Amino acid sequence: MPRRILPTAQPLRDCEIAIVGGGVHGLSLAYNLAKSGRKNIAVFERSYLGAGASGRNLALIRSSWQQRAWAELVWYCRQIWSQISVELDYNVMLTERGSYLCIRDERSIAVAKDAVTMQNSLGIPTRFVSPGELAEAVPQLNTQGMLGGIHDPTAGVSRHDALVWAYAHAADRLGVAVHLETAVTGMQVIGGRVNRIVTNRGTIATGLVVNCAGSGSAEVAEMAGVALPTRKLALEMFVTEPYRAFLDPIVSVIEDQAYIMQTSRGEFVGGAEPTGHTGTPRLTTSYAALRQSAAVIARLFPDLRGVNILRTWAGLIDMTPDGAGLVGEAEERPGFFLDCGWGGEGYMVSVGTGRLIADYLNTGVLDRRLRPFHFSRFATGDRLDDGLLVVDAAGETRA
Ligand SMILES: Cc1cc2nc3c(=O)[nH]c(=O)nc-3n(C[C@H](O)[C@H](O)[C@H](O)COP(=O)(O)OP(=O)(O)OC[C@H]3O[C@@H](n4cnc5c(N)ncnc54)[C@H](O)[C@@H]3O)c2cc1C
Repeated sequence: MPRRILPTAQPLRDCEIAIVGGGVHGLSLAYNLAKSGRKNIAVFERSYLGAGASGRNLALIRSSWQQRAWAELVWYCRQIWSQISVELDYNVMLTERGSYLCIRDERSIAVAKDAVTMQNSLGIPTRFVSPGELAEAVPQLNTQGMLGGIHDPTAGVSRHDALVWAYAHAADRLGVAVHLETAVTGMQVIGGRVNRIVTNRGTIATGLVVNCAGSGSAEVAEMAGVALPTRKLALEMFVTEPYRAFLDPIVSVIEDQAYIMQTSRGEFVGGAEPTGHTGTPRLTTSYAALRQSAAVIARLFPDLRGVNILRTWAGLIDMTPDGAGLVGEAEERPGFFLDCGWGGEGYMVSVGTGRLIADYLNTGVLDRRLRPFHFSRFATGDRLDDGLLVVDAAGETRA
């Protein structure tokens, strides 16, 4: 049988579980639910698979976080990443090249040292590195002003389209209906629950709804009468012309909100969010962001000054006040579940959230690794602000 790129087109019909959004979160959840034996699952994607942030990200996977909750979740996900190509029978092209998170600010150094101790206690093999060690490990990097950093040897990068397609194929094989070009435009609530969803192709009945709509999640929640504390934020990236083999690890600098890696084809891919970036939620790129990225990368890697940027693009993320995802069943709307708000870090956790939220829908019990991400944390004051986020919740540089 030839392998299809797209899932089989299905007629629109009533379903037990309606997942809104055909990004990595919606597809991972659909696959894991179907794998657990659930039937009658449908994914609704208003555009093409991966049209949101899932097809526009840098696809970095890392384990160095300040918050224990983040560290535990990403480390759980990291184990899944190691075998996901085999599980889905699709090569997601994961390369474990390691990363250096570089720091110039004294306060962040203290945060990093404590974080490494916590990470090591969980079995995460990260290491604090001095400026001298940083200079030795990444000699191409201009380490002037840097006070140290974190080496994360298990950090890696994969191919984001491959993960999207891998989940879509696997879900399709297990009988999930993946509806492309099918926008959810409204919801009908009867007896306090969402009973029907309205799409541009018709209205269908459903048992429950999961909001995996990424930057569209606030609008989707609003259709169910639920208010989310998220806002859209645009991130801009660039890709250069190919260059000689130059940079093996992934390098990011907290104070510059900068991240860069070299692909196996020799191109550099990365970005540096402009100071005072207000996150205009548009998919168009700006000269200001391009100039900012070029200036920061040229300062960090002087050898790259003459390398031409070939293309820029933008992606929209859904950012919560603390930059961490939102999960749980909406209190005011039983049967309406959240798996959104993952900001600039949602790609790496998607392989784990799909499993854990499928378990949650099957058992009613939210796994301890996802419990800290329950939306109620904003009411209880248990926010997950993380001092080691490269793109922080404010979308502004810390420098
Ligand atoms: C430039 C950039 C770089 C990033 N780099 C990284 C990184 O290195 N590592 C990392 O872990 N994360 C990264 N991220 C974040 C990551 O991409 C996201 O957190 C993740 O992809 C979110 O996945 P998702 O499935 O929740 O949302 P999305 O991928 O945005 O998918 C949501 C889908 O819902 C659809 N949709 C919305 N509304 C509706 C509706 N009403 N009806 C039907 N469909 C609808 C959209 O079309 C979209 O396809 C980056 C993001 C960007 C933009």
